[in-house]
Amino acid sequence: MSELLVNSEKGHISASQRIPAIARPFVSERAAATLDRVEKFVEEECIPADEVFMRQIGETTQQRFSSHPSVLEDLKSKAQELGLWNMFLPKNHFKEGAGFSNLEYGLMAEYLGKSRVASEATNCAAPDTGNMEVIAKYGSEQQKRRWLDPLLQGKIRSAFLMTEPQVASSDATNIEMTITKDGDEYVLNGQKWWSSGIGDPRCEIYIVLGKTDPKNSNKYAQQSVILVPHTAAGITIHRMLSVMGFDDAPHGHGHVSFNNVRVPASNMVLGEGRGFEIIQGRLGPGRIHHAMRSIGAAEKALEWMLARLNDERKKPFGKLLSEHGIMLERVARSRIEIDAARLAVLNAAIKIDESDAKGALKEIAEVKVLVPHVNLTVIDRAIQAYGGGGVSQDTPLAQMYALGRTMRIVDGPDEVHILQLGRNENKRGKAHKSRIEAQKKKGADLCRQYGVGTADVLSLERKSGEKSKL
Ligand SMILES: Cc1cc2nc3c(=O)[nH]c(=O)nc-3n(C[C@H](O)[C@H](O)[C@H](O)COP(=O)(O)OP(=O)(O)OC[C@H]3O[C@@H](n4cnc5c(N)ncnc54)[C@H](O)[C@@H]3O)c2cc1C
Repeated sequence: MSELLVNSEKGHISASQRIPAIARPFVSERAAATLDRVEKFVEEECIPADEVFMRQIGETTQQRFSSHPSVLEDLKSKAQELGLWNMFLPKNHFKEGAGFSNLEYGLMAEYLGKSRVASEATNCAAPDTGNMEVIAKYGSEQQKRRWLDPLLQGKIRSAFLMTEPQVASSDATNIEMTITKDGDEYVLNGQKWWSSGIGDPRCEIYIVLGKTDPKNSNKYAQQSVILVPHTAAGITIHRMLSVMGFDDAPHGHGHVSFNNVRVPASNMVLGEGRGFEIIQGRLGPGRIHHAMRSIGAAEKALEWMLARLNDERKKPFGKLLSEHGIMLERVARSRIEIDAARLAVLNAAIKIDESDAKGALKEIAEVKVLVPHVNLTVIDRAIQAYGGGGVSQDTPLAQMYALGRTMRIVDGPDEVHILQLGRNENKRGKAHKSRIEAQKKKGADLCRQYGVGTADVLSLERKSGEKSKL
């Protein structure tokens, strides 16, 4: 038994043994075996390597965004030897992936979420995953060979450029970047920010959303998606943005401008005016990948919390923290909330597998809102248990909190999903009102039929000054 893998008082209970009962019938033997290999790879290889990765990045901004830690390439080779590669591309929609369902990959993504390097080591890191799906689903054969192949091989990385600093980008109809046809080329002008991944020197392809037809009366037909190689002249990465003080190097989040950037017309994806369709198609499975990784992060926070609660060296008021009841209550609540959130994510994954992301809009939106809240709550409890150490660099919790906090904003802020859920739920209002009225009427008819009357059972009709009628 490896001491790097032990997870209970009885030793190690493997990931496949811990698959929730509700999901078990949907998981193949091959996927269960792969899940165990993912768990072992993450716990034994990736989590210890996180520390090396952080140190190999370097110190100055120029260094941090030019580096490519060798530990990562070593992990990528190991992952490929173990058959842990491209597990994210679901088998019922793509032939290029490792042949797992969204549910099966969802279970694996949970473990990847426990390490800084594990997702990239297995070529399952955002934003590449969503970007590969876009090219695989909507790209031409030429685009696939030029960009999808090296992405699938983990040789290059990619960025998705939608958000702009000068407009409220959670409403993508506001996007202003122009994409203008000029002969057999398109010319791009405008600014983007929060371009995740663009700091990585291996990021060679940008998937850019802009407007080819800004005057179209249908505001959802104005946008297009186009592929821009990083070498195209006229692109400036002005600066990198920090996330609550963390720079997320080397991939980072860039503030970028495009000044008369020219790309061949053949780089247009799917055709002019199809941009909305593409960005909506991109976000479905990606959201549950984020959610599953967040479940893994929450598990990791709880594990760190349990380690602190049982630390013999640090006993406030003469007792282990685990002997203070309030802490055990926080552990129990965390267990309940993580387990419930996991079921919601697995349910969304099953729904996507049964239809597609469109058929699972409600379930995806539910987990997009629910899981980051659970993750942040659990990390917050773990931070509290560590006292000052919890907000310092001595635990991974502070950085996990920063990353977890962004999940309430990325891929659309909470409010957008909540409003949409609320609006759709409200559509059932009239049906419920008429059914409730019909049931009340039938109840009254039955009361008369059974001779029990329809008067209110608590009816008293006592006038002022009257005594009890008994
Ligand atoms: C770490 C990180 C990584 C990111 N990576 C990428 C990336 O790779 N590519 C990319 O293109 N973008 C990326 N983004 C950007 C992200 O998708 C946007 O920040 C997000 O969509 C919100 O857009 P906005 O920042 O323009 O905020 P705005 O649209 O200005 O919204 C601001 C706030 O208004 C409120 N709001 C918005 N809509 C409503 C509503 N309907 N009802 C009530 N309140 C509302 C919300 O509180 C929202 O947070 C990233 C962001 C972060 C933080």
